[in-house]
Amino acid sequence: MASNTANPANHLPYFFGNITREDAEEYLMQGGASDGLYLLRQSRNYLGGFALSLAHGRKVHHYTIERELSGSYAIAGGKSHASPAELVKYHSEEADGLICLLRKPFNRPPGIEPKTGPFEDLKENLIREYVKQTWNLQGHALEQAIISQKPQLEKLIATTAHEKMPWFHGRISREESEHRILVGSRNNGKFLIRERDRNGSYALCLLNDGKVLHYRIDRDKTGKLSIPDGKRFDTLWQLVEHYSYKPDGLLRVLTTPCPQLGSENDNFGFNAHPSPSGTLPKLQSTIGHSLEEAPFNPYVLQRKRGSTEEERGDQREALPMDTEVYESPYADPDEIKPKNVTLDRKLLTLEEGELGSGNFGTVKKGLYRMKKGAKPVAVKILKNESNDPAIKDELLREANVMQQLDNPYIVRMIGICEAEAWMLVMEMAELGPLNRFLQKNRHVTEKNITELVHQVSMGMKYLEENNFVHRDLAARNVLLVTQHYAKISDFGLSKALSADENYYKAQSHGKWPVKWYAPECMNFYKFSSKSDVWSFGVLMWEAFSYGQKPYKGMKGGEVAQMIERGERMERPEVCPTEVYSLMKLCWTYNVDDRPGFVAVELRLRNYYYDISH
Ligand code: ADP
Ligand code: MG
Repeated sequence: MASNTANPANHLPYFFGNITREDAEEYLMQGGASDGLYLLRQSRNYLGGFALSLAHGRKVHHYTIERELSGSYAIAGGKSHASPAELVKYHSEEADGLICLLRKPFNRPPGIEPKTGPFEDLKENLIREYVKQTWNLQGHALEQAIISQKPQLEKLIATTAHEKMPWFHGRISREESEHRILVGSRNNGKFLIRERDRNGSYALCLLNDGKVLHYRIDRDKTGKLSIPDGKRFDTLWQLVEHYSYKPDGLLRVLTTPCPQLGSENDNFGFNAHPSPSGTLPKLQSTIGHSLEEAPFNPYVLQRKRGSTEEERGDQREALPMDTEVYESPYADPDEIKPKNVTLDRKLLTLEEGELGSGNFGTVKKGLYRMKKGAKPVAVKILKNESNDPAIKDELLREANVMQQLDNPYIVRMIGICEAEAWMLVMEMAELGPLNRFLQKNRHVTEKNITELVHQVSMGMKYLEENNFVHRDLAARNVLLVTQHYAKISDFGLSKALSADENYYKAQSHGKWPVKWYAPECMNFYKFSSKSDVWSFGVLMWEAFSYGQKPYKGMKGGEVAQMIERGERMERPEVCPTEVYSLMKLCWTYNVDDRPGFVAVELRLRNYYYDISH
């Protein structure tokens, strides 16, 4: 699968990717080095940053473009721009600190693609292996984890990848580092990095003519790493890349990583691509710490730093994969799924208090005893005084649909139980309905909301793929496991489509959530994944309105008329224009022109990656 974290400069003909400063100078000289000739390249020390190389007076000047926390780009201290391209456009009209205007782009010669950095090449594999080993996932569960959490995973990898590099020896003493370097071959440039203290400061130990030099690597207030007076880097592996390529103040360049004794176990054995500096490919053979903590586990890595969770303000957010409900409990081969989905009442304990209620009865919290321990569950309990067989059938139909679904972004059924009442036992989503959560938590960021609605779109894409229509998709039926993990629930109106139709035809108008329904539902009683897309548009509107009611104060009939007139709801105050245009696309009147969830999910995914780089 191609990476969707597209580089925002890849499409620019004058972008050369991860080339060195010297390569840039050579290109511009080849191009005549006329005043104002320029090219753009990837920053080799700042994650997501760029560098602008500009010829003037037969010399080439270089400017670092940093990616700011807000996601915009700026030359240190200068104006912010939405993209590298806009920054270039601006500086072709205003020098504003540059030695001269950007006059003429130097474009890549035919056949030359932007060069990918060694880490870019490795990233996809690193992420996959990291997720596989940390959460022990495979197949769909693995792919879904990568898609939904890519930005977080990239960051985790970028800041912890050095832990798996052959040259990183962890917290060893100065004496021990010298000992390690002096054992075996004594090539000039042999090196390692050790951790000096718990504040993120390190030392680079480098062999030069039989003597070991120690360079401090300090972390500044903004978190950047540098050798005193040296260039600053976001990560240790970028620093190593840089000094493997030029001494830049060191006595010599880094050549071979000092091996770690006894580190034969290759628990991170991905296929490394060749790297120009020769430091990364060795990952394949010497990776891993060899010590007790063999698997690449972020918790182990964090604990090693020695602080408790409370002390660490920067404790990472729990990812969906960290929770109990990412995978089905029955994915565990030791847990046997009950054959006819009926559960043993004796294994179920109900707690006091209600999670929710409806005319069917109530939803209560409970615990279901499984082989691997007690599982928190939500139990939908039918009122038994009603004795209405239709209500029981409805619950059984809901159970029948849920039984067939297994996706991280959909609430799973654990089973059904017939005892003092009919009960539908489900995975627990502690934080409850999305609309209510957002009403109470106005501080939730736009990015966070985007992450959640993207997860909903992933669950809906799965439903679409499997030919189910939900028919009651709304923010009230999206439940939160954590602030960063949403699941679709309430399959009371859902239908499995038959093989020969891609829609479900209702016999009559029922108690319908009409404000969420597409025109064809209202006019022809036709329900399809495309009508779920319409509802998803309304759901996005609700989410970005922090749980407000859609079409406030209007009656169902008035809403239908408004839609027929071609009018749509307005953009919620904090809703990004990209998301609003997707909402309106979901509200395309004609079913055939309306996108499906495959397209909707991809649009949201790209937007989400874009804002969370
Ligand atoms: P209804 O058909 O009445 O809308 P729902 O299935 O939506 O029934 O459940 C009603 C309420 O019960 C939800 O709004 C929610 O507050 C609570 N609830 C339902 N399922 C769960 C669950 N799996 N985890 C936590 N709360 C739940
Ligand atoms: Mg509901």
